[in-house]
Amino acid sequence: MKKENEVIGLETKVPPNFIKNIIDKDLSEGKNDGRVHTRFPPEPNGYLHIGHAKSICLNFGLAIEYKGKCNLRFDDTNPETEDMEYVESIKSDVRWLGFDWEDRLYFASDYFDKFYEFAEHMITNGVAYVCELDEEEIREYRGTVKEPGKHSPYRDRPIEESLRLFREMRDGKHPNGSLTLRAKIDMAAANMKMRDPLIYRIRKVSHYRTGDKWPIYPMYDYAHPVSDALEGITHSICTLEFDNNRELYDWFLEHTPVPYISHQYEFARLNLTYTIMSKRRLLTLVEENRVDGWDDPRMPTISGLRRRGYTPSSIRAFAERIGVAKNDSIVDIALLEYCIREELNKTAERVMAVLRPLKVVITNFEEEVEYLEAINNPEDPEAGTRKIPFTKEIYIEQEDFQEVPQSKFFRLAPGREVRLRYAYFIKCEKVIKDENTGEIIELHCTYDKETRGGSAPDGRRVKATLHWVSATEGVKSTVRLYDHLFTVPDPGSDPNIDFLDQLNPTSLEVLDNCYLEPSLKEAKRGERYQFERQGYFFVDPIDSEDGKPVFNRIVTLKDTWAKIQKKSKA
Ligand code: ATP
Ligand code: MG
Repeated sequence: MKKENEVIGLETKVPPNFIKNIIDKDLSEGKNDGRVHTRFPPEPNGYLHIGHAKSICLNFGLAIEYKGKCNLRFDDTNPETEDMEYVESIKSDVRWLGFDWEDRLYFASDYFDKFYEFAEHMITNGVAYVCELDEEEIREYRGTVKEPGKHSPYRDRPIEESLRLFREMRDGKHPNGSLTLRAKIDMAAANMKMRDPLIYRIRKVSHYRTGDKWPIYPMYDYAHPVSDALEGITHSICTLEFDNNRELYDWFLEHTPVPYISHQYEFARLNLTYTIMSKRRLLTLVEENRVDGWDDPRMPTISGLRRRGYTPSSIRAFAERIGVAKNDSIVDIALLEYCIREELNKTAERVMAVLRPLKVVITNFEEEVEYLEAINNPEDPEAGTRKIPFTKEIYIEQEDFQEVPQSKFFRLAPGREVRLRYAYFIKCEKVIKDENTGEIIELHCTYDKETRGGSAPDGRRVKATLHWVSATEGVKSTVRLYDHLFTVPDPGSDPNIDFLDQLNPTSLEVLDNCYLEPSLKEAKRGERYQFERQGYFFVDPIDSEDGKPVFNRIVTLKDTWAKIQKKSKA
């Protein structure tokens, strides 16, 4: 019987997809003793990004849904670029996303002895040999897609000789690049990966976990299937570019004494518009200080999204929406923004904040301060109300006033009346300018006492409602606005253009003269708010101080995703 798509434990579920169909079929046929065991296998050579989040949600999500298991395994067979800092960041990112590997934290480097033992096994069985061709010669001998390759002159050397040389490689007796261990498969295979691929190469470098123990390191294509098999992984899910590796994956499991036969399945990797997913390129951005570290809120890294103010649940919802397919595509970044907006619309309290202030003096307001009632979240009646102070001097947004209003500009202008949210109607009587520069420095307005709460007893209407903050009671604060990291939807895709030249020079805007309603003085690090008309904001956990919050804009209120969908339907 087909499984229901129910939510188990964590509020995450993997919608129907071809991998689930495979699992369902395997279960119905009683394969793998009814087990579902997946793994997430990052290489600790950088921070995780939103593409990895897709893989994490899929692998851990399947384990949750099928009451199976998912391992976290560090695929650490390339000593040059790997580091403990990355291991720690990856662990905390997976945990933050809401997933738990329980006691199943593994490292491919823990299997180095096994990999070595199984390699000797292959040599002994005549299916692996030590080769003396150098890198370039190996490439030449490999042939092309159209032409078969040539046999290495070392291919048929005696087993004992290969065994002796391989042991000498392990004992550090040969220099880098002088020898390799290769699988003896088929130099005429249509799949180039099967033309006597490398199993081991000499690399006299320290490994961040095994130190100088090993002067040789296994290739990914060998280490990966063997690691899966050692852990009893039933469904080894990877991205499409490994399609060609599957044949080799199966070959290694067939020719080594592994305790289990795992199977590989490929799905489409996530690509997102206006950003990049290559760890190497993300590292370049960090190393060249093009961004402010791996957790810069503009980065597509999980730590960047977290610092920006994204929630784990919004990222899981995104992973669910994009689904799992077998063909590559590019997802519009507006969909990711839609997911956080949709969540925060339900949960974030509304407040008022003026980002680019223009002072307004209410000339006929005689009181010190008047407290008005404001609704905390119209989507959530439980959220209640709060009091906000109204004073003689307030701030509105500069862009909410035009001295000579353009057509279709319905906000404040000389002689015009608008509503102040939760307060009164005000009318602009006078524009005060700097004598020297001509710049508008304040507006003099009058308010109509009868319009308290926002409607006029005589039924007259206004065409705009503005947000505002008391100039004397409000809190001055810093707010950071973010735009796309790149100016083009597909950065780095044109080989003739350096992706660094496509960086958006205005992706960060720091506004340090913003005014917030007084309640926000006590905003805590990590809290999220909707600033009315401006978007959703996050109290930066690092740059904020007690009583001095710094806000990151997570996303604007404009739903570009809905627009895109409408357009595509039309
Ligand atoms: P590298 O180029 O360093 O190999 P990588 O992005 O493949 O980078 P890994 O650490 O090997 O990084 O990836 C761990 C897992 O995440 C792999 O199983 C990989 O398939 C998956 N993954 C990586 N990038 C994406 C992506 N953009 N979308 C979906 N899954 C991804
Ligand atoms: Mg990889």
